[in-house]
Amino acid sequence: MRKKLIWGLALALALTGCGGGPAVAPRVTTAPAEPKSQVAFFFDTVVTMNIYTDDETLLSDAQAECQRYEDLLSKTVEGSDVWNLNHAGGKRIQVSPETREILEKALEYSALSEGAFDITIGACVDLWDFTGEGMGRLPDETALAQAAEKVGWAQIDMDEEGVLLPAGVTIDLGAIAKGYITDRIADFMRQRGVESGFLNFGGNVLAIGGKPDGTDWNIGIQDPRGLQQQAVVGAVPVRDQAVVTSGIYERGFDLDGVRYHHILDTATGWPVQNELAGVSIIAPDAFDADTLSTAVFAMGLEKGTAFIESLDGIEAIFVTREDEVTWTSGLEGRFQPT
Ligand code: ADP
Ligand code: MG
Repeated sequence: MRKKLIWGLALALALTGCGGGPAVAPRVTTAPAEPKSQVAFFFDTVVTMNIYTDDETLLSDAQAECQRYEDLLSKTVEGSDVWNLNHAGGKRIQVSPETREILEKALEYSALSEGAFDITIGACVDLWDFTGEGMGRLPDETALAQAAEKVGWAQIDMDEEGVLLPAGVTIDLGAIAKGYITDRIADFMRQRGVESGFLNFGGNVLAIGGKPDGTDWNIGIQDPRGLQQQAVVGAVPVRDQAVVTSGIYERGFDLDGVRYHHILDTATGWPVQNELAGVSIIAPDAFDADTLSTAVFAMGLEKGTAFIESLDGIEAIFVTREDEVTWTSGLEGRFQPT
């Protein structure tokens, strides 16, 4: 890659260096030859940034932004908007414009997915506790059934005065916030002059522009069955687009031949058991792609495929538990299966 770029530059110099022809301004690229990279841990996951920039403080400033979003949107950070909503005891409270934007998108996709996607799943998520001590054991069935009774997006009541969540209802933005934040961090970088790079926020991949050499980023679609680390089912070229994957192997455990994973059936609180092992969404932004990856996973292969086909500019790749890979019509000739 480095070699190619250097050769590219050498060729460009050679071409512009030969006299005699009309005076054409050489195409000068301001992007440095190597990206600046940063790996950090935010939002309960690994955050990677690979950005072509000369700006020495860009990545540390971006990390500070990540921290600000974590403090605003985390369910476990006391005093965050989400924590405040979950502890408001049925009172209407004010939230930041960022939180409001996320709640609006969540409600939109809850309706479109007929409730398969629902951020009021929070109490069920807490009982499974996939990120903490709960990993590996089943929750109490009665408690889970009671928590599932509390799920229902229509209970979120938003107006100019603020947001009202009935007492006992708990929201969880785990399926949507990372996508929103990925987009905001990309905007922040574009404002600081970045034209090329990519972000990976725990499976939320966002390409900023194309590669510095002008070609597309080729994004590997990870094998959601997690059989091998880094295994891919194919690749898709993107520029200024997001690729977001949801699957049964991201968080979860196996017990007595059953895979218990973190995408929950909003009717029962139990992990969604359908034919899917994973779904990747390709969309202009990570906010939509993240929300859709969870929603479409919960909808299943047939309904999910029809839903994505009905949306303009959004595509999906599905991997079943039987290892079949299918994709929506807009990826025909573009997705390269391995
Ligand atoms: P990841 O967190 O790996 O990016 P997802 O975007 O699919 O994966 O989000 C899964 C998370 O969303 C869960 O950990 C949980 O917090 C929350 N969640 C689980 N089931 C649902 C659902 N049916 N609707 C909305 N959010 C959900
Ligand atoms: Mg998601």
